[in-house]
Amino acid sequence: MNNSISRRKVVGGLAAVSMTQVNAKETIRGRARIVIIGGGFGGASAAMHLRSIAPHLDVTLVEAAKTYTACPFSNLVIAGLRDIQKQAFGYTNLSRAGIKVVNERAINVDTHKKSIGFNDDRTISYDKLILSPGIDFRWNAIEGYDVASANIMPHAWKAGAQTLQLREQLRSMDNGGTVIISIPPAPFRCPPGPYERASLIAHFLKSHKPKSKLLLLDAQDTFSKKPLFEKSWLEYYPGLLERVPGSESGQVIRVDPKTKTVFTDFDTFKADIINIIPPQQAGKIAHLSGVTDDTGWCPIDAITFESRRVPDVHVIGDSTIAAPMPKSAYSANLQGKICAAQLVRQLSGLDPISTTLNNTCYSLSTPDQGFSVSGVYRNNDGIFSPVPGSGGTSPIGQPISSKISERHQAFEWFNTITREAFG
Ligand SMILES: Cc1cc2nc3c(=O)[nH]c(=O)nc-3n(C[C@H](O)[C@H](O)[C@H](O)COP(=O)(O)OP(=O)(O)OC[C@H]3O[C@@H](n4cnc5c(N)ncnc54)[C@H](O)[C@@H]3O)c2cc1C
Repeated sequence: MNNSISRRKVVGGLAAVSMTQVNAKETIRGRARIVIIGGGFGGASAAMHLRSIAPHLDVTLVEAAKTYTACPFSNLVIAGLRDIQKQAFGYTNLSRAGIKVVNERAINVDTHKKSIGFNDDRTISYDKLILSPGIDFRWNAIEGYDVASANIMPHAWKAGAQTLQLREQLRSMDNGGTVIISIPPAPFRCPPGPYERASLIAHFLKSHKPKSKLLLLDAQDTFSKKPLFEKSWLEYYPGLLERVPGSESGQVIRVDPKTKTVFTDFDTFKADIINIIPPQQAGKIAHLSGVTDDTGWCPIDAITFESRRVPDVHVIGDSTIAAPMPKSAYSANLQGKICAAQLVRQLSGLDPISTTLNNTCYSLSTPDQGFSVSGVYRNNDGIFSPVPGSGGTSPIGQPISSKISERHQAFEWFNTITREAFG
């Protein structure tokens, strides 16, 4: 199924793009059909990269939504600081680039016949399939938290209607109300995301409803960029924000939407607004394709992103088991490009080639300040491992000018990856 490690030429330190220096047009025999399911940061980036490095390939992108709503910066929308339209991206530029865009939900994948099915019984065939379906929620992993409860206690962890709902709840809450954010155990999409959300909601409350309180009920004891977040909370939101860690009974195990109550092992909390970020798993189509394991996520070869369970199916983005790489848009975009390049090598009869990958996650602690965490990873043994001595977070005592500059970099990063993915 997967190429053995001994066949691999291990070339460390290569950037994704350098792998594309194979004259794919001359070497690939036939017109291979590549189908990608999921047009988010992973899938759209993979599609665009395939078109640019191997323009003669037949590339189809299957995406359920006509408009993609990006999650990075959606916490600003919740805090009333950004228009959701700025998060919206269409697929016209992908069509213009020669990608066949099918705006429908794939409902099954037959990995023996190599075909994808839709609601109207139509199917499309593939030679190679890339799955980038993002996450789905483990409904009822928190007792009582199902699709119906999410209408009262929004998750806002897939950007769109839920983002606006949480924003509206904040707008209409009385000054003096209580807001709860419930944070699940890892792994989940965007490890620093809940704490950025807490910071920006705290900013909203401080500015508009200063008698209010924000309570974080956290299943985790520690979290991404903890010292940086905690320092900024003390500095900007003292007395407004409180966090209960997992070891002090912070994990929410049951909810009652009717009474707006949440339960942990030992405590009960009532609030005016309850934002439940539920436990997560790989997108449903990954389960239906047989590429998930008992964890609910997808084991992959770290060099090629080929599934360890099903041949000719590659998985990228949030659905994968790629730790220590986080589930982020930065990772999904880079994984999409590397996967595309490895597929072209594979179709050209070339050995896979190892790479060095990286990730940077920016978080906003106030609307005009940010900080970041970076990591560098190798994949030469078929698994991801951190490069010793690399990466790290912004310094804890960084001057305000650096925090302002990091916020600016965050926007530049967002503009770059959305351009790469959506043209
Ligand atoms: C509040 C928040 C803030 C965040 N901030 C950041 C940040 O600052 N930086 C960062 O790097 N990351 C951030 N992230 C994480 C980032 O959004 C995700 O990691 C990223 O979107 C993952 O990309 P993906 O391609 O795996 O999945 P997605 O972007 O979710 O794309 C999956 C796509 O697949 C489609 N799909 C699923 N199933 C099917 C099917 N059966 N048929 C057709 N289409 C299907 C979906 O419609 C969706 O468009 C944030 C996340 C949240 C929630």
